[in-house]
Amino acid sequence: MGKFELMALPYAPNALEPAISAGTIGFHHGKHLATYVSNLNNLLPGSGLEEMSLEEIVVKGTGGILNNAGQILNHNLYFEQFAGNPTLTAPTGELAKAIVRDFGSAEAFQDEFQKKGASLFGSGWVWLSADADGKLVITQESNAANPLQKGLKPLLTFDVWEHAYYLDYQNRRADYLAALWKIVDWAVVDRRFNA
Ligand code: MN
Repeated sequence: MGKFELMALPYAPNALEPAISAGTIGFHHGKHLATYVSNLNNLLPGSGLEEMSLEEIVVKGTGGILNNAGQILNHNLYFEQFAGNPTLTAPTGELAKAIVRDFGSAEAFQDEFQKKGASLFGSGWVWLSADADGKLVITQESNAANPLQKGLKPLLTFDVWEHAYYLDYQNRRADYLAALWKIVDWAVVDRRFNA
């Protein structure tokens, strides 16, 4: 037993179909994420970082510890934000206002987010985050990086590593990104925004 545990999915493995298949969930959560958790637990003893939270390790860690902790935090945020039947299917309240203020419209936001996800070179993640003043920004982060490392508050993320979509979409990353909007639970994003 290590310090960190594989997160429990808040839905059945087939709940996100057809956007994400049960097969992809099985490999992505059950194999890829589980391996990052196991790797971090193996690397932590003797590192001096044993008492830190995942978020602290992502900001202060280096090397393999940082890469595995980043992938765990990123995947936890990713899997937690989806639902087969989202409580909220669109942004509301202050978050909806901020999206219109900072991107022009909800459609313009989605368009920019998808474009940045599709054009990210190699492996990584596209993020919606809030800065210290509450302004919303979309960033591309390579490999295991997380917006926390830039002082941003992460709100929403789409994984664009090939393991996230290749079983279901092969090389059609843009189709995968477009399908994810149907399973985003904006109640989760809203909680992060207001936290
Ligand atoms: Mn992944």
